[in-house]
Amino acid sequence: MDLVIYLIHSLFLFVIFKSLIALFQNSKNKDSMNKPPEALEVTKTPVIEKILVKDLECNREIDRSKAYILIKNKQEYYFCCWDCRNKYLLRHGQV
Ligand SMILES: [Zn+2]
Repeated sequence: MDLVIYLIHSLFLFVIFKSLIALFQNSKNKDSMNKPPEALEVTKTPVIEKILVKDLECNREIDRSKAYILIKNKQEYYFCCWDCRNKYLLRHGQV
């Protein structure tokens, strides 16, 4: 019987100990809540500058950095692939 009492007693102490820790943490949280809130860090999504250009041959919108560029009469023309570029050149004459 002594063992049972001992177990209950230790369990009781454990519960008190845990609630004391919880209380302590709560008061700590309240303290931090009283402090002026730090500036919320706005998570910035990296802005990748993606300039979309239109392929004159297949009318597809493509990323400028991945486009095939044809410079004609000081103007830039963009194409999704070399084939489109060539097709355009065939239709409109060489540079
Ligand atoms: Zn194309």
